[in-house]
Amino acid sequence: MESRNKPLVIRSFAKINLYLRLLNRRRDNFHNLKTLFARIGLYDTIILKRRKDSRIRIKCSDRRVPKGKSNLCFRAADLLRQEFKLKCGLDIEIKKRIPVGAGLGGGSSDAAGVLLGLNKYWGLHLSRVRLAALGARLGSDVPFFIHDVKFALGTQRGEKIKPLVYLNNVKLWFILVYPGVKVSTPLIYRKYDFCLSRQSPVSPCFKGISGLTRQVPDVKIFFPELLKNGHSFDPKCLFNDLEAVTSTLYPVVNRVKNALLAIGLKKVMMSGSGPAVFAVCGSRSQARDSSARLRKEHKSWQVFLVSAV
Ligand code: ATP
Repeated sequence: MESRNKPLVIRSFAKINLYLRLLNRRRDNFHNLKTLFARIGLYDTIILKRRKDSRIRIKCSDRRVPKGKSNLCFRAADLLRQEFKLKCGLDIEIKKRIPVGAGLGGGSSDAAGVLLGLNKYWGLHLSRVRLAALGARLGSDVPFFIHDVKFALGTQRGEKIKPLVYLNNVKLWFILVYPGVKVSTPLIYRKYDFCLSRQSPVSPCFKGISGLTRQVPDVKIFFPELLKNGHSFDPKCLFNDLEAVTSTLYPVVNRVKNALLAIGLKKVMMSGSGPAVFAVCGSRSQARDSSARLRKEHKSWQVFLVSAV
């Protein structure tokens, strides 16, 4: 297969989960879930460059990103090499902007970016469906990023994607706050299962798993709300089953939420397994003013102003 000599530059965007409901734990220990993904304008840059030898090398300035075979970019490139019996060597440089272990899908998005990029760079001509199936072997969030869409419904373990193309014109602005602690997704799921298995309504984390103690709207009511009302959608639509668990382990999540509520933002929720928290804003200028205020008051937090893209 032919490959180009010029480096290929890719942007891999982050996601937030506007809705995340866990349904049940499966035999393979994953959870069936329903989630509404929104892709946001915070991105890593990945540069793919051909090597003369057959090695795959990762370069990344962020200390928290693994540089070896466990890096999701490495695994994505290696998966394609194995599938197609290729020997091409590759330098992968990652300019990391998406906070690591934040619930923003950074590693998954990087992996999807490498699959999409190498599909071109190595002239593989694979369909999106085929790339998404390969991506699902690397992580549950990877297929969403393969689909190149602003909003999508994720089901099963999150890897079954229904792109919501008719929502493409919905404009949403967010403030996104990362309070600086790295959270392990498997740990949060284990803790969630532990809370459920205890069946103890007195446990603070059990109480907070709102899906167990109150009626939760189905994700489907979200779609017409977004289409009709844009950022003025009913706040009850926002939902995350993992928020209570992560905020019990990491109280900073509630501090971030309270800071956002205190400056008058009403739709505030943690993304994925956290700890990043987002607030839906009414306009870009509201998001700009509120983020400036937050940055001033909380210097150790990373505050981003982003839109759904
Ligand atoms: P998850 O998909 O588990 O919800 P997340 O969005 O919370 O993840 P990521 O930033 O994707 O967090 O990082 C998850 C883990 O993946 C980190 O512990 C990190 O060591 C590992 N990892 C592997 N490759 C990458 C990569 N290219 N970028 C970031 N993290 C990576």
